Amino acid sequence: MKEQLDWKRRLSPAVNSIQPSSIRRFFDIASKMEDVISLGVGEPDFVTPWNIRESCVYGLEKGYTSYTANRGLPELRKEIVNKYKRQYDVTYDWETDVLVTVGVSEALDLAMRALLAPGDEVLIPEPCYVSYQATARLARGVPITVPAKIENEFRITPDELEPYVTDKTKILVIGYPNNPTGAIMSRDDLLAIAKFAEKHDLIVISDEIYSALTYTEQGPICFASLPGMKERTLVMDGFSKAYAMTGWRVGYVCGNPTLIAAMTKIHQYTMLCASIMAQMAATEALRNAEDSMKAMVKEYNRRRKLIYNGFVKMGLPCFEPKGAFYIFPDISPTGLTSEEFAEQLLEEEHVALVPGNAFGASGEGHIRCSYATAIDKISEALVRINRFVQKRM
Ligand code: PLP
Repeated sequence: MKEQLDWKRRLSPAVNSIQPSSIRRFFDIASKMEDVISLGVGEPDFVTPWNIRESCVYGLEKGYTSYTANRGLPELRKEIVNKYKRQYDVTYDWETDVLVTVGVSEALDLAMRALLAPGDEVLIPEPCYVSYQATARLARGVPITVPAKIENEFRITPDELEPYVTDKTKILVIGYPNNPTGAIMSRDDLLAIAKFAEKHDLIVISDEIYSALTYTEQGPICFASLPGMKERTLVMDGFSKAYAMTGWRVGYVCGNPTLIAAMTKIHQYTMLCASIMAQMAATEALRNAEDSMKAMVKEYNRRRKLIYNGFVKMGLPCFEPKGAFYIFPDISPTGLTSEEFAEQLLEEEHVALVPGNAFGASGEGHIRCSYATAIDKISEALVRINRFVQKRM
């Protein structure tokens, strides 16, 4: 039926320029099928640890149901500041340098809107999380994607970024451990990026939401802890992944006070504050849930090894992910595109995963599998994927 009003013309060009995320498309199909194993959504299969949930129940019982300060509960901001001091020796002021947001999702949006003038360019290594490009576009910026290479385990280097720099480049977004590849950057890799940011006078948005899920001895590195980087870096992290708190919608951003104040203005008018219940729960997470978090990370690590060995045995080129809870095998030996692979696998073997091109053009030829699911399900999924792959090789 023809619409009476020409909505496409009336909608903002920025909104028209973005597509809905294709990640969920397969889950909508999968949800109508029986016996489907999903390696799709980037969401922990654990429920939030009990003491965190209980702190929320307690807060409700006591009648904590109001707004909070725009920037977030002081006790939560103090715990965030303590974490950065303790873990990375980075000093933030809880009153001026921290903003509690509705997930890292909101923090990304605020950062782009606070920083970008129309036409400013944002360098985004790819494959990457789907929001980076969309939030840049919605803020009237221009996302410039830079392909990272599997030969380099999807790490990005200044030499790869350099050809994309123009006099409009304003922001560099980095996200390690990476969604969808599971890549991490070494200290030396990051130091090289720091030099590059300094040379081109860029603001760095460092999405560290998977920092707790780093499976190396070296552990996570906070970009703001590198020499000279605190001033020009917005560090973002949250509770969704590390504490199995996706539904609570709480995260935070730390950075320069002038920039945080600018982001707080937007937050004040659009969100007002993150929910008080979620903030109380997040405070408890930082105070008393380290052991539960570490137990979950240990389990992800066990699954990571299983799924990596499974793909290697199948004969699909694959590098060992070192962080987050994703693996990103190369499926080109099957002769299928990533969409064909995902569609046919779902139809034939009832396994749902995400085609690599959902994370940008350079993800084509790959699939993203999340191992945030029970180990017996991962084992069964590997049997099914292997059956599917061997028919095509
Ligand atoms: N950043 C990355 C890299 C993610 O993978 C996700 C969620 O999948 C987010 C940010 C959004 O996190 P939040 O739940 O804190 O909004």
